[in-house]
Amino acid sequence: MRSEIGNDIFKSVEILNRGGIVAIPTETVYGLAANGLDATAVAKIFEAKNRPFFDPLILHIAHSDALNQIVSNVPQKAKILMDHFWPGPLTFVLPKSDLVPDLVTSGHPTVAVRMPNHPIALELLSKLTYPLAAPSANPFGYVSPTNAQHVQDQLGNKIDYILDGGSCCVGIESTIISFENNPTILRLGGITQEAIEGIIGPVNVSLNEHSNPKAPGQLDQHYSPYCKLKDLKHDQLEPHSNVLFYSPQTEEKYWGENPRIQCNVMYLTNNNASIEAAANLFSVLRDFDQKGLTEVYIEFAENEGLGLAINDRLKRAMAKRD
Ligand code: AMP
Ligand code: MG
Repeated sequence: MRSEIGNDIFKSVEILNRGGIVAIPTETVYGLAANGLDATAVAKIFEAKNRPFFDPLILHIAHSDALNQIVSNVPQKAKILMDHFWPGPLTFVLPKSDLVPDLVTSGHPTVAVRMPNHPIALELLSKLTYPLAAPSANPFGYVSPTNAQHVQDQLGNKIDYILDGGSCCVGIESTIISFENNPTILRLGGITQEAIEGIIGPVNVSLNEHSNPKAPGQLDQHYSPYCKLKDLKHDQLEPHSNVLFYSPQTEEKYWGENPRIQCNVMYLTNNNASIEAAANLFSVLRDFDQKGLTEVYIEFAENEGLGLAINDRLKRAMAKRD
């Protein structure tokens, strides 16, 4: 059995109001949403995704007014960033209010919150009286979904409805910044560190510990297709190797003066553009499995701007499965 894909916002509202789960479009990736103030509804997300309880969820809102319900304090610098980047792919970790269930925050005294920049997500949220808890709508550890069909392929029989909003334009998850102490980026994503620092000045970056301080490194492997991914080094390719080059331009550089070998070549971006590369990333990884590839060499992006977030996802996708 497969869940229905459709455009019915009222049906989505009705399902969410009775404690069900609905996959929703956002500009980053598709989310698996439930009433973020109802622990029983939120538990269904963990069940459908097979997500461990130590991994907290992000709450989604449509208006800044909704913040008062879920956080106890918004520091000035956080407010400035919200004014600048919301709606958009920037998530804030702030002290939580008593209304937010521990299941949402994995028992942390802080909660993650953002305002997605997607007209359908915003319309849906504006018809609700509560925020939506929504992690990516994929089985835990697998590639995140960037269209409705991806969701159906993976979780189709486990959810109540899939609200279709087309393909996600950012394609990688939100950047997460914590204001628990000094502003600290916990996850690289759709908004770059430079863009944030351009508004509020220098911030700290702490990329791994946040996933689960009690079990460090457990989430090193994430966003992974079943296909084995290998870091592309020079002179590594053989005839018929599968290779994902960043772009045709970087492929040129790879070969240099050397004769080309006939490989199965794929690109993350045809135009050497990091926005396009980010938007394509998860679809391209997913295609490896769909094509039945067992091994692909991967060329990383330049370590700057969005390339940092892309490389973070690629490294986690590459990390060995047990
Ligand atoms: P997603 O991967 O989009 O489901 O976003 C959820 C991620 O947000 C989690 O895996 C954490 O890395 C991060 N997160 C959510 N809430 C918190 C929190 N209270 N403190 C630190 N990180 C958090
Ligand atoms: Mg995820």
